[in-house]
Amino acid sequence: VIKFDNSYTKLPQGFFAAQKPVSVTPHALIAFNQDLAKFLQMNFESLSSAELAQIFTGQTLLPGSEPIALAYAGHQFGHFNPQLGDGRALLLGETFGEDGQRYDVQLKGSGRTPFSRGGDGKSQLGPVLREFIVSEAFHHLRIPTTRSLAAVQTEETIFRMSTQPGAILTRVALSHIRIGTFEFFAKQQDFSKVRTLADYTIDRLYPDLTHDAEGYAELLNQVMLRQVTLINHWLSVGFIHGVMNTDNCTISGQTIDFGPCAFMDEYKKEKVFSSIDRGGRYAYGHQPRILFWNLCRLAECLIPLIDGQDLKRAVRTVEKVLENYTSLHETRYQDVMSQKIGLSSDQFDVLHKLLGLMEKHALDFTLTFRDLSEALQKDTLPESFAKSSELNTWFTDWKSTLVAQKLSLTEVAEDMDRINPLYIPRNHQIEHSIQLACEGDYRLFQDMNALLKNPFTQQLEHHELHAPPLVEERITETFCGT
Ligand code: AMP
Ligand code: MG
Repeated sequence: VIKFDNSYTKLPQGFFAAQKPVSVTPHALIAFNQDLAKFLQMNFESLSSAELAQIFTGQTLLPGSEPIALAYAGHQFGHFNPQLGDGRALLLGETFGEDGQRYDVQLKGSGRTPFSRGGDGKSQLGPVLREFIVSEAFHHLRIPTTRSLAAVQTEETIFRMSTQPGAILTRVALSHIRIGTFEFFAKQQDFSKVRTLADYTIDRLYPDLTHDAEGYAELLNQVMLRQVTLINHWLSVGFIHGVMNTDNCTISGQTIDFGPCAFMDEYKKEKVFSSIDRGGRYAYGHQPRILFWNLCRLAECLIPLIDGQDLKRAVRTVEKVLENYTSLHETRYQDVMSQKIGLSSDQFDVLHKLLGLMEKHALDFTLTFRDLSEALQKDTLPESFAKSSELNTWFTDWKSTLVAQKLSLTEVAEDMDRINPLYIPRNHQIEHSIQLACEGDYRLFQDMNALLKNPFTQQLEHHELHAPPLVEERITETFCGT
């Protein structure tokens, strides 16, 4: 049913711990992602929901599966923790997608492993549903992300801040190697293992690179490129990851770990949702700065590989790579953001001004761009802009800029609607869907998943889910739920 072809298990001792899934009783298969299963060339057609629930809780191990928990370390909120690792996750094995790429198939919430420390290795239903909705929404927003193959509710009751049913998510990733995986071996001064990891990473994710000093420096550069692309996608849809620790920063450039993450409703540059992010370290507008900080941690791990004899020379090499960060990010940022209003980056100031006004007038980040394109089409003023003369003036100026460029306003509006989503997984709806699911009603969870498959296209069914929260529906804080 799944053709496993495992490579991580062939790495030396210390990279992982073999671990059988813990025994648990499945309650029900909540979601199974048929499209993703097909993409992964899996064949589950003849299996019942009950059989799938057994598989995706680890109770039935498929042939070829070699479950392991991966070792990693990481900087959490700036503080180094030498020993993190898969404390509530288990890699079942690797398989190939239709695109010819290798993918990890991992259970999350499947019970204790040698890396669990004080934790129970389990997950509540809420965080599983949240990750399912948001990661799949990301995929359909064309943002690099891990995906969700299945979600199963268990018979357990899990206590965190409140009591919820237990659940297990099956996550699919291009790989689970993080900056923290490099830090794990670098901290131990085991540079032969750092090199093994770098070589494995190159073979798996960056096969064009060479296994030498030049290749390792280029690895840093390539990870930087992918991560810069990634976080600019986040910024362009108003997403706040919430825990950009180095252990949550993938080498593949995919978004990982949808914990206290959230899309903002009204635009605010310093917006924070996560209850544990007291200082706003991971606020919306700080994400580029934090990514740079994280990349510096990766660079430190690679230095001894680039030149073990002359460290100063190696430091200069990585500095040369990292020096490009700011201009790379800024170019990218101005590109993606200007595009949202149909302009190129040399007119970024128009967009910049809009953001300032959006913040001042507490406009909805998502709907503003759809309102603007609609107003272009209809040759009217967006309703949300009518209330203020500055917004009014901005709109007129923007339109003249477009006209001066001899652009067809209809075409601009159509282009805008292709990149500015109408539907995002809004926080209050995610929370509501979790609350209902805990009472046994999965309809909202399913409706959201269905709607978010086409985030750019207006849909009659469930269109009400486009709306920002009413004052009494507003969610001000999110929790990591571990
Ligand atoms: P996260 O906040 O999900 O990035 O997790 C950070 C670290 O805490 C990782 O090493 C996890 O494996 C571990 N962890 C989180 N929740 C649990 C849990 N319930 N039981 C054991 N380990 C956990
Ligand atoms: Mg994590």
